[in-house]
Amino acid sequence: MGRLRSKTIQVSTYEYVLNYLEKAAKIIDLDPNVLKILKEPRKVTMVNLPIQMDDGSFQVFTGYRVQHSIVRGPGKGGVRYHPGVNLDEVKSLAAWMTWKCAVLGIPFGGAKGGITCDPKKMSPHELERLTRRYVSDLMGVLGPEKDIPAPDVNTNEQTMAWMMDTYCMNTGQYTSSIVTGKPVVLGGSRGRHAATGNGVGLSVREAANMLGMDLSKCTVAIQGFGNVGSFSALSLVSLGAKVIAVSDVNGALRNKKGLDVEALIKYTKENNGSIVGFPGAEEFDPQKLLRCKCDILIPAALENVITAKNAGSIKAKIIGEGANGPTTPDADEILFQNGVTVIPDILCNAGGVTVSYFEWVQDRMGYFWSEEDVNHRLEEHMVRAFNDVRRVAREHQCSLRMASYVLAVKRVSDVLLMRGVYA
Ligand code: NAD
Repeated sequence: MGRLRSKTIQVSTYEYVLNYLEKAAKIIDLDPNVLKILKEPRKVTMVNLPIQMDDGSFQVFTGYRVQHSIVRGPGKGGVRYHPGVNLDEVKSLAAWMTWKCAVLGIPFGGAKGGITCDPKKMSPHELERLTRRYVSDLMGVLGPEKDIPAPDVNTNEQTMAWMMDTYCMNTGQYTSSIVTGKPVVLGGSRGRHAATGNGVGLSVREAANMLGMDLSKCTVAIQGFGNVGSFSALSLVSLGAKVIAVSDVNGALRNKKGLDVEALIKYTKENNGSIVGFPGAEEFDPQKLLRCKCDILIPAALENVITAKNAGSIKAKIIGEGANGPTTPDADEILFQNGVTVIPDILCNAGGVTVSYFEWVQDRMGYFWSEEDVNHRLEEHMVRAFNDVRRVAREHQCSLRMASYVLAVKRVSDVLLMRGVYA
């Protein structure tokens, strides 16, 4: 990951998470006692991490690990390094992981972590010390059967390698299943890097089929051209669609005839991650990306970018949420009224956690699958989840987002009631 320079969330995103949970609870007539339990994260850990900087001075960084639910399996979720990391954000991301794993039917609960820091201003050695101290302080919380971290914004395979090594040094055992998103040589899964984008492509394909749209005649606009945006673009092109506009933090590009996505990815690798200056495309105002004329819109950068202010001017028929939480609840309502099909984040971008699950399974077996095998299983999981959500949407006459929440909350609460509340 690593290139997201997102703005800090100003609103309480956790309020948004609760809003959908409460609506889903009403639809399934959820026991109010169970709702009370699901509204609160199960465990919140905060650590203050004193780190010696390269100049010899010490700085204290605040880190979090939130386990929203471990009812359906061990906690699962990434660790984000960003100056804007705060408890509200980590709680929201942890709850989304609970619902995402439940929608996909994978045996994990939901967790998330973060450290408030500016990794762009830190050296690799400082980041290594910070990562190792974070894991050391959380030894009682993390574990392959307890809570399994992964990369998120500004953390990557190297961060996961340090996390795994620190955990193994502390336990004296080789336990590659403690983290996912590792380098393949350390027990990472083939296909993990492209998994979220491939999952976005597959869920858009299913939505297009549902609406009777021919993908080979569809145009696509993508906000964000990092891991999720670029692999979503590649996947959609391989499915026959034409990517006509993309933006990143530096600018926006368009070409009505279709952008050469492979060439653009190569260009960004050679230009410090930026799309600006790519030949064969015209630059335009990035503010207009979300409103541009296209059939499919993929927000793949930031939270809370589709709001009540701009939702009414969106022209796309399908929105595939590559990012977590790109649409505010009031915007979601407007899009639903306007007949726009939104594939919600907890379904659309779940390809990443699905292949993380495959990685955990492979590590525990000590036997590793081919990339074709991983991609085939990913497709099976994404299509099954899409069909489950579609069935619930039909049954309750609601949006795919509401249906995803209904499905997830039902799956989590059924297991919770079956296990009973240990009080
Ligand atoms: P990344 O850092 O690789 O890429 C982010 C992209 O967004 C970059 O191209 C950046 O330039 C762009 N961007 C930043 N600010 C922007 C702005 N104001 N306007 C337009 N573009 C802007 O991050 P990523 O891994 O692709 O993650 C993107 C989103 O997807 C995040 O919300 C993340 O939580 C979510 N997500 C990622 C994964 C995964 O496996 N990588 C899985 C699920 C969800």
